[in-house]
Amino acid sequence: MEDIFCKIVKREIPAKIRYEDEEFISFDDINPKAKIHILLIPKKHIPSVAALEDDDAPLIAKMIILAKKIATEAGMESYRLVFNSGKDSGQEVDHIHLHILGGNRLGNMA
Ligand code: 5GP
Repeated sequence: MEDIFCKIVKREIPAKIRYEDEEFISFDDINPKAKIHILLIPKKHIPSVAALEDDDAPLIAKMIILAKKIATEAGMESYRLVFNSGKDSGQEVDHIHLHILGGNRLGNMA
């Protein structure tokens, strides 16, 4: 199903892109919840963590290693990685995405 992040992948809507390769794209969150708030998504449309299959394990492992690199590249030594999954968690966009948050002291939510 087409979602807003698929449109960013296809350049149908603009975003401040930080990183892109064949499998992933990373861009700034439009409504940042920290001084630095970056999103990292696979280009493959997977709706949420809840929809992951066992075969997606390599993709998710790569995503976390890539998030570390993107955070470091953005100048963060300390950061938080968050996946929301499902409406009650706060997930609004049904395309799996990893939040990379930092640049200031974060609250101790988790
Ligand atoms: P969720 O709440 O689903 O975990 O996170 C979705 C995130 O996407 C939110 O932090 C929201 O600000 C961000 N977002 C929603 N629409 C857009 C958009 O069109 N462009 C960008 N760059 N971020 C968006």
